Amino acid sequence: MGEVQTVEGQPTLVVRSEQGLPLKLEELLSQMKPFGFSVRQDIVPAGARTSCTALREHRMTTIREGRWFARFGLRLNAGFPQPGDARPTVRVIPPGVISLRLEMCQDCGAVCVRDVSMESYAGGRSARIYNRETGQTRLAPAVMARNVVIGWYSGKRPAGREYT
Ligand SMILES: [Zn+2]
Repeated sequence: MGEVQTVEGQPTLVVRSEQGLPLKLEELLSQMKPFGFSVRQDIVPAGARTSCTALREHRMTTIREGRWFARFGLRLNAGFPQPGDARPTVRVIPPGVISLRLEMCQDCGAVCVRDVSMESYAGGRSARIYNRETGQTRLAPAVMARNVVIGWYSGKRPAGREYT
């Protein structure tokens, strides 16, 4: 399932996202642009290798880091965290601005989208921060980067063949 789109000059197989991300990579990039990019590095994929197509193993390079406004929030299927779980865990990311890292495969050009927003987490220990100048101590809430894959834009396939 999916459709071929041209993304920055590359024919790209686009898989429909149920997760609220734009269907096209170029649309996601244009929605991120107003926030500015902290990382912006374009690469030219060398062409899909067997590892990409057969093993689905990709060599990723970070091409963008920036922010995106998740208008409707995101619902992610987080799989089965515990053995024997009856149903998959659904992870909900509320609407709002989230931080994204986009990684592109150096070979096939597939793009992996990660939510790398900072969030506080249950069970995390807050950090004690001591200010030398004022002598004051305060507690910083425990935060961590989420680092959750929230989307995938497939790359160009070899010899123009699309495996769907
Ligand atoms: Zn690849």
